[in-house]
Order: sequence, then C-alpha cells, then structure tokens
Amino acid sequence: MSRVYNFSAGPAVLPEEVLKEAADEMLDYRGTGMSVMEMSHRSKAFAGIIQEAEADLRELMHIPDNYKVLFLQGGASQQFAMIPMNLMKNRVADYIVTGQWAKKAYQEAQKYGKVNKIASSEDKTFSYIPDCSDLPVSPDADYVYICENNTIYGTKFKTLPNTKGKTLVADVSSCFLSEPVDVTKYGLIYGGVQKNIGPAGVVIAIIREDLITDDVLPGTPTMLKYKTHADAGSLYNTPPAYGIYICGKVFKWLKVQGGLEAMKERNEKKAALLYDFLDQSSLFKGTVRKEDRSLMNVPFVTGDEKLDAKFVEEAKKAGLENLKGHRTVGGMRASIYNAMPYEGVQALVDFMAQFEKENL
Ligand code: PMP
Repeated sequence: MSRVYNFSAGPAVLPEEVLKEAADEMLDYRGTGMSVMEMSHRSKAFAGIIQEAEADLRELMHIPDNYKVLFLQGGASQQFAMIPMNLMKNRVADYIVTGQWAKKAYQEAQKYGKVNKIASSEDKTFSYIPDCSDLPVSPDADYVYICENNTIYGTKFKTLPNTKGKTLVADVSSCFLSEPVDVTKYGLIYGGVQKNIGPAGVVIAIIREDLITDDVLPGTPTMLKYKTHADAGSLYNTPPAYGIYICGKVFKWLKVQGGLEAMKERNEKKAALLYDFLDQSSLFKGTVRKEDRSLMNVPFVTGDEKLDAKFVEEAKKAGLENLKGHRTVGGMRASIYNAMPYEGVQALVDFMAQFEKENL
C-alpha cells in the first residue's frame, strides 16, 4: 500500500486511523454481522452511532443546549436555498461576499427576497476580507450571511462581522473543527463535511432553537425545513448513514488529538511552515493579504502559468497530489486540513525549495 500526501480541497484527506478502523469494521460492525452500510437507520446499532456522533460533536464545539445539531444532505449548496426559505421572515437578508461560495449563496437567496450585498472583496479577486466592523446592516434583515473560510481564495474571517444584533449565519465548510469557535455568536453554523470531517454526502447544521419554526416561506418542501429534521433527530428519512458513521469516528479522533484547541495549534504550525516558505521564496508567492490568510487553504503562484503546470505535474510524481488551484483561478492551492500531517506540509515545502532551485 502506498498513500500519497493529498492536498485536495475536498473531498479531502481523512485520518488514517479512521480509515483503518472503518476497514476493520467493514464486514462486521461490532458483532452485528453486517456493515454499517447495510444496517437499518432505525436499528439500535445505528441509533448508538448517530447519538454518539452528536454527543462528541457537542463536546468538541461546546455546543449549548439551545442549539440543535442536524445531519442533512444536499451538500452545502442546498443550504444556499434552505437558509432563506427557513429564516427570511421579513424577506430581507444581508450578505458579505468574499468568494465564489458566498456569491452563489447570495445569488440563490435573491430568489426569495430582498438581498443586500453589504460588503465584498470582489474588487481584488477576493484576496482579502473586508473590514466588517461597521457595515450598513439592514434594520429589517433576517440575518447576516458569511462564508467564514473561502476555500478557493484562501481567506478566513479572523474576527466575525459586527452584525449589529442580527443573526449571523456562517458557511464553515472548509474550516469546520479546525479551531475552537464560540457557537453562541451564530444563529446557524453549517458546512459540508467532505473537507475536514468525513465523506461527501453529509452536511452538518448547528442551529439555535428559536430559528427552527414552522413559519417558513410558502411552498418550502418538507425536506427543506429545518424543523422536519430537528423534530425527527435527523431521522425523518434515511440519513447518509455511512457518512455519519465516519464523521463520528473523526470526532473521536479529534478528541484523542486533544480537541479543537490542540487542532488550532497544529494547524497554525502547519500553515506557518508553508506561509513562511512562501514569504521568503523568490519563485512562489501567496496570493492573499497576510492578515486574512486561511489556515486550511493556501493558494500560491509562480507568476508563470507554464511553470505552475510543471510544478503540479512534478509534485504529483513526487507523491504530492491535488495541488492544482481551483479551475476558476489557476495557480496552485494546498489544502492542509486537520488530517494533513505536519510531515506532509514539510514534504511539500522541501519539494518547493528543490523546484525553486531547479527552475529559477
Ligand atoms: N461552501 C464552501 C466554502 C465550499 O468550499 C464548498 C465546496 N467546495 C461549498 C460551499 C459547496 O459545497 P457542496 O459541494 O457540498 O455543495
């Protein structure tokens, strides 16, 4: 067996321990005589899996009792519609547009009401996070929306926007569980798990109870009401059972690692190794304003498209995979999620130094 260092932005690297455990349990999950993929979502064994997953996530994130944890489907993209359908009581919402995913959410919300773009960093290809300390938040806004970590551009909100009392909704797909968060600052935190937590197909939404109501926009499908899933403990219909099982294993892995404080420390060390290299390199350079740099997604360029392509190709040969930047921006991007070991980033930096010597 040979595993590569996988820098994919998502689906992405998972902890090897988790994959091995899942492999060991594949044919016979703890004496049930079947795989988790084969068991009823109403079975006792699966009830244990989903309840334990929720309890561990609550512990990791210190989720207060007045928040529900929902395991949903449809990808993070489905939330772009589900959020306005459920939360837009006044049919007004404010969006901060810091990248393609925020922009998509902003565009989708326009189907449902008056949507204001109260800040944006599109003027400089989303290479920074705008100052959000005193934005023109709409007095009747139902919520203020952010994408907290911008996967494609590699920026991250280091301070949350001042929402002037309005409910904050955040897409944390690419920074989920990468560092501690104060859940009480948000009305809704959600993300697809396929970057930092598990296999594609599961979306986790952490939502304050007062936001879960029957008072949704007319025509909202049953499956797209948070209340449907909250009332049924995420078992209204067949959930993405195997994905939830793997998420649960990753939560346990995170607890063994020392929780989110320890992850933050590790992630900062990994990111610093790469950013410090970029800052002194004569060939490679980072594309993001320093103070807004993401700990998870690190984009960089050589300034020469041909050389970028050569780098990606040679890196792959050296066992460093998926370093090509997003198809809309080009260049390179190293995604260094929780499960990417320090050694992986070290191997990347060593390779970059060698490449620089040979190509400068
Ligand atoms: N939000 C962010 C921040 C993302 O990075 C992505 C996917 N890469 C999405 C939303 C869309 O996720 P999905 O493919 O699960 O719909």
